[in-house]
Amino acid sequence: MAPGIQLDWSGVPGLAEAVGHDRVSSNYSPEYAPRTWELIRRMRSGTAVFTHPATPLKCGGAPQKIAYLAADHWRKRKVLDDIRIVLVIPDPAMFKVPAWSQVLERVAARYGIEVRLRSEMTAVDGDAREVTITDHANGTKEIIRYDLLHAVPPQSAPDWGKASPLADPASPQGFVTAGKHTLQHPVHAEVFALGDVANLPTSKTGAAVRKQAPVVAGNLLDVMNGRTPSHRYDGYTSCPLVTARDRMLLAEFDYDLTPTPSFPLLDPFKERRTMWAFKRYGLPPLYWTGMLTGRL
Ligand SMILES: Cc1cc2nc3c(=O)[nH]c(=O)nc-3n(C[C@H](O)[C@H](O)[C@H](O)COP(=O)(O)OP(=O)(O)OC[C@H]3O[C@@H](n4cnc5c(N)ncnc54)[C@H](O)[C@@H]3O)c2cc1C
Repeated sequence: MAPGIQLDWSGVPGLAEAVGHDRVSSNYSPEYAPRTWELIRRMRSGTAVFTHPATPLKCGGAPQKIAYLAADHWRKRKVLDDIRIVLVIPDPAMFKVPAWSQVLERVAARYGIEVRLRSEMTAVDGDAREVTITDHANGTKEIIRYDLLHAVPPQSAPDWGKASPLADPASPQGFVTAGKHTLQHPVHAEVFALGDVANLPTSKTGAAVRKQAPVVAGNLLDVMNGRTPSHRYDGYTSCPLVTARDRMLLAEFDYDLTPTPSFPLLDPFKERRTMWAFKRYGLPPLYWTGMLTGRL
């Protein structure tokens, strides 16, 4: 099972109608992503709101890295002081791993970004250009008038998966049950799940899939040959947190939130130009010729 994740645009009242129109965009759909850049490029003043849903999502860093890229662009254009940036995050911290969270707090402060923790976008009025932000810490709702809204929708398993016996009863979004290390379904031993649809306690990324795929392939062969699954996934995931046009933090960690850097000699808690160059020039060939062909 690897059908990916479903984007629930109708999960926030008004979002499905607003996205892709006027000042609302989202990089979560390839259809809208070019519009995000257009809106950022045209903006000279006003309020920009960037949101992160309260559900599990693909690439947990993507909702905030677009805020940093936008802020860096506005800084270069010398209009940053005229733009109020609000970043809405449902969690109590900016990132799961405290050491990276602290770096991101400094990045946000550098750009003057107002970070709203424990908060969520709960409604959008595209005609009025207003977004409702609910603060789950105290239940208050605030309506913010925006000039740019980058909205990330709630996400869940595809509806047909949610309705199937493979869905994990412990997952409100219906993600598929999978053994944390074997990726095997605990009841249906011939079923394995990987990627965004699997209900695993790690961040949903392509980098995680890269490590899961060989485990599933090996364990499938084990089961088909009457053996117990012998391959183990350790929860590895990676989030390239772009913090400026030419800077990046590469956050790599496992189920225990222990950093697992691919470049152990480099301090992973430092924003680096070299990491950005790795993402820009190294990751595309790694993806196309290494990962998709099963070599890496
Ligand atoms: C803006 C953004 C930035 C990201 N940045 C990064 C990053 O920097 N690094 C990183 O590692 N990850 C990143 N990700 C996350 C990454 O894209 C996903 O985690 C990854 O693609 C998940 O892979 P998957 O195979 O589980 O799902 P998908 O890539 O969604 O693939 C699932 C496929 O299954 C197909 N499918 C679905 N149902 C069926 C069916 N019934 N029959 C046949 N086919 C079906 C779908 O059409 C789709 O092609 C980012 C995601 C976004 C949105």
